[in-house]
Amino acid sequence: MSETPYFVSYSEALEILTTHPLSLPTEHIRLDQAFNRILSTDLASKVDDPRFDNSAMDGFAFRYKDSVKPPNRLQISQVIQAGFNDKPFPIEENQAARIMTGAPIPHGADAILPIEQCEVTDDGSTVLLLQEGKKHFIRKQGENLRKGHAALHRGDVLTPSSVGLCATMGHPEVPVFTKAKIAIISTGDELRPPGQTLSDTEIYESNSFGITGLVKWAGHDAQRYDSVLDSMEALRQKLDQAAEECDLILTSGGVSMGDWDLVRRLMEEEGDIKFWRVKIRPGSPPLFGYWKGTPLFGLPGNPASSHVVFRMLVAPYLRHSTGGGGVHERRVRVCLAESFKTDDNFLIMRRIKIDTSAEKLLAYSTGYQGSGNLNSLVLADALTLFEPGHSGEKGTWCDALLL
Ligand code: AMP
Ligand code: MG
Repeated sequence: MSETPYFVSYSEALEILTTHPLSLPTEHIRLDQAFNRILSTDLASKVDDPRFDNSAMDGFAFRYKDSVKPPNRLQISQVIQAGFNDKPFPIEENQAARIMTGAPIPHGADAILPIEQCEVTDDGSTVLLLQEGKKHFIRKQGENLRKGHAALHRGDVLTPSSVGLCATMGHPEVPVFTKAKIAIISTGDELRPPGQTLSDTEIYESNSFGITGLVKWAGHDAQRYDSVLDSMEALRQKLDQAAEECDLILTSGGVSMGDWDLVRRLMEEEGDIKFWRVKIRPGSPPLFGYWKGTPLFGLPGNPASSHVVFRMLVAPYLRHSTGGGGVHERRVRVCLAESFKTDDNFLIMRRIKIDTSAEKLLAYSTGYQGSGNLNSLVLADALTLFEPGHSGEKGTWCDALLL
């Protein structure tokens, strides 16, 4: 253990992780499968958006100068519907074209009046414009996006709007990072799946379910295994199976200093540890290393800690492995509405509720902050990021990571 980085700072841990990224090849997928996937290359538009000058309103198109000093009566020369293939006739003096939203602007026209501000004669031959035409109701070719411009980038998560933009830009398929297959293994003699009868000393196993959610949230595939007893042999077997079947292994429990903390012991004796213990709270015990060539995070067993460590170490690691992108971590500045316990050496993450109704974002504790208290995490909007040395005093400010 002597050469293994031990009790590293948070930034040291991140630095070590960046030197061991997962290698996730590109695959091309149909757009209807693309939601929440992560782009592996920049994506340029194949067309201008809009493709041609078109109307933003249902109404009439005409020469602006024929609409000054309203009302003005104009001859209706044609009807232009979106998608009609016939080229519209040019607009002459004192003519107006009935035009629908998205239809191409006829040559000569430079203004639109919405139908609500127009009166059409009964025979449909003329229109009375009750107001001046609006030039800004013409959507100009390329005003949103120019052909060839890369609007989406390597590492971008494909949100509903960006999937739509892929289609707007003309891409039926998109290049994305292959999802990592991530093994999730809980360890502990005391753990039973929810639904089973518990003996006096047993508890329901929760981490593998919560971490499965986190893996999916991060855009990857979770492979949840049955929890493993605290036995070197059982653990070795399960890690071998997971290393065979998955790209990354996440264990929970068994990484502290206790006699039964066998993930740590097995990794020390037969694995390759890159760091063990990080100066963060909750969640100081984690380790990172390799089990027979497969990267492995040993997350703490306490449920709130394992969740926090996923967000603070595993999520950045996965983002780094996908072009620096992936699911966004949003941070906000919050003002402390009460005092919090902080530390001179540790980065401290308190579970907070944020009151957004005041002029500033106010942070309140969600209550007892024990690392086994999952309920206090459920109640939380965010985690504080108290740098070492922050006073934590009421009225001071800190960054918070939105959950
Ligand atoms: P450990 O890190 O193995 O010492 O576990 C720390 C604490 O977390 C103990 O109270 C365990 O019972 C609890 N724990 C460990 N793993 C889980 C799990 N998968 N689900 C719920 N609680 C757990
Ligand atoms: Mg344990």
